[in-house]
Amino acid sequence: MAIRILPPEIASQIAAGEVVERPASVVKELLENSLDAQASEIKIEILEAGRRRIEIADNGNGIPFKELHLAVERHATSKLTQAADLFQISTLGFRGEALASIGSVSRMTLISRHASDPVGARLEVEGGRISEVTAVGVPTGTVVQVQDLFYNVPARLKFLKHDTTERHQIDQLVTRYALAYPQVRFNLQQEGKPALRTSGNGDRREVLATLYGAEVARQMLQVISEEEQIQVAGFISPTSLTRSNRREIHFFVNGRPVQDATLVAALLKAYHTLLMVGRYPQAILFLEIDPERVDVNVHPAKAEVRFREPERIFSAVQRAVRRALLAHTPVPGVGEQLRWSPAATDGPVGVGWQTSLERTSNRWQTPDWSNLTPPGVDAGIPNSESLDAPIKQPIPQGGQIRLENGSTPILRLIGQVANTYLVAEGPDGIYLIDQHAAHERVLFERFQSSAGQAFPAQSLLQPALVEISPASARLIQTELPLLEHLGYQVEHFGLNTFLVRAVPSILSGSDPAIALRVLVEDFEEDETPLQAEAEARLVARICKRAAVKAGQTLTPDEQRSLLDGLEACSSPRTCPHGRPTMIHLSVDLLERQFGRRGAR
Ligand code: ADP
Ligand code: MG
Repeated sequence: MAIRILPPEIASQIAAGEVVERPASVVKELLENSLDAQASEIKIEILEAGRRRIEIADNGNGIPFKELHLAVERHATSKLTQAADLFQISTLGFRGEALASIGSVSRMTLISRHASDPVGARLEVEGGRISEVTAVGVPTGTVVQVQDLFYNVPARLKFLKHDTTERHQIDQLVTRYALAYPQVRFNLQQEGKPALRTSGNGDRREVLATLYGAEVARQMLQVISEEEQIQVAGFISPTSLTRSNRREIHFFVNGRPVQDATLVAALLKAYHTLLMVGRYPQAILFLEIDPERVDVNVHPAKAEVRFREPERIFSAVQRAVRRALLAHTPVPGVGEQLRWSPAATDGPVGVGWQTSLERTSNRWQTPDWSNLTPPGVDAGIPNSESLDAPIKQPIPQGGQIRLENGSTPILRLIGQVANTYLVAEGPDGIYLIDQHAAHERVLFERFQSSAGQAFPAQSLLQPALVEISPASARLIQTELPLLEHLGYQVEHFGLNTFLVRAVPSILSGSDPAIALRVLVEDFEEDETPLQAEAEARLVARICKRAAVKAGQTLTPDEQRSLLDGLEACSSPRTCPHGRPTMIHLSVDLLERQFGRRGAR
């Protein structure tokens, strides 16, 4: 066939395909236009999941009468004037394509009045054909009606999902914008019924409640941070609140929702080992950076961006999240934790408290400086006097001391209670340690630190035949090579039956059937973890099974070595599944409880 230039209708349908994929993409483009027009109120009405009709009305600046016909032309925009502007975009739109694209695949009516015009203007576009502009009496703002989407592209229609799915997409989209713009009042109606309504009072947590429900909204932790002119704000789930997939992780960059693997990876890294493996946090985070540091012109639907310094962004996000997590996941019972370091000599100031947030190897971290109560800080040398009378003063931020790893035991063992908890004395009070959770953590980190070599295999004297459920059998079969790495020798024997020849030596005491089933306990069907996560998940399960149980008597030596192990952990406060390993009763709390404080 000869080469020909495509007729404009076909060319514009092809272009439209990039921008307008489904009803939700129409809603996205129109919403962004309203937000760019500084609207404080946006009303959206959807009929038949958007196939029949999408209408958006805003009270923004409006389009001047004389420009209305231009608004629906391709590559017509008021948001860019020169090429250089492309590298510092501060509006959501800039491609000048949305209205033209939508108009080429639907019957669209555009009505708008600019504040400076006495009357409004109206025009229609049907399958790309633009009507005359007529005058109409309307208030300032813009209304866009999109009817019969894809009426002229039947192939597209076929690709649309079930109505419920398309409606859900729209719900999700509008809710996310509502979160990003809490100062804008949103009103979404689907099939004539209210679907979402926000007050526009600027309170993000209130909007959050519409997205996740009041209870979850209450629990979500706030992130606020700024470093190197990268602002990170928003909400993340506490370690106790997790999901089996990443679908509730949302990022916005300069008010624009983006899909970015780097950002998600940074978030997950911050949660590393604090969540049960195979579980994911929920998050909605807003990054604000200089528009020059991010290229938004890399994706037709503007869903992806490119950062100029991805590593900086990565660490800013990771640190912001980590800090919020640590600030909100203290050892239960107190708000702040300190680590006594009498041996410290290499610090910049002679203050014996380790305070660095950034180091992963430190144990007790003090994210909140405002209400810190060190039990006595006297040029780094503890003395009984200062311990008796705690000084209430914040430690200067520069007063950080690096600890030699594991140099001084920080906990003095007192004993075991109820065959379940260890009691220990620390620099600032009493610690109650859950022996099972603590041991899980110790085993888990030991495995991680020895690059996966910590579980030698223990051959069984007699190989055992083990039968498990069909779903579990499928899972185990797919992970046989990994199992060998973890110390198992397992062969597929028959339908759901396996021959177990060896188990990880830390499980050697248990029934082979249990040692195998451990791997698939509480497995969720919809999990499709990456390989690295699959391993961590399995390791956590093995550790849970192998850890000492509640109710198990431990000899003083065993107790001591458990404490030592815990002290060597990088995240000693939680077990690999995210539950706390210890509760702290501070001297301060004891004094208050005994009425020794405040009486003087
Ligand atoms: P872009 O948003 O990339 O500029 P669009 O095709 O979405 O391209 O819109 C074209 C132009 O129409 C915009 O630049 C803007 O000037 C005007 N416009 C569109 N929608 C609105 C609105 N809701 N309020 C005011 N102006 C609008
Ligand atoms: Mg636009």
